[in-house]
Amino acid sequence: MRNCSTKKIGYSSENSAISALLEAHQKSNFNTNSGPQNIYKCSICEQYHLTSRKPSHPVLKQNATSMSERTQNDIQRWSNKFKNIK
Ligand SMILES: [Zn+2]
Repeated sequence: MRNCSTKKIGYSSENSAISALLEAHQKSNFNTNSGPQNIYKCSICEQYHLTSRKPSHPVLKQNATSMSERTQNDIQRWSNKFKNIK
């Protein structure tokens, strides 16, 4: 990993920057207003960095909503499964 004069962590790919962004939001309980908001490609080191500046990355909003929906779907699916077993 190359050093960057911004002193931020550099991610070599967009995907790893996005997963770091999501991870940071998991730690803050998906509070979309706190922590890093987006990723950008750095013109200095040509790696990706996280930024706390808005607008927030669409993946964060998607993740916040799909998370609770997915949990509900999972509960539904599992309870149906158990019904079928009986
Ligand atoms: Zn950089």
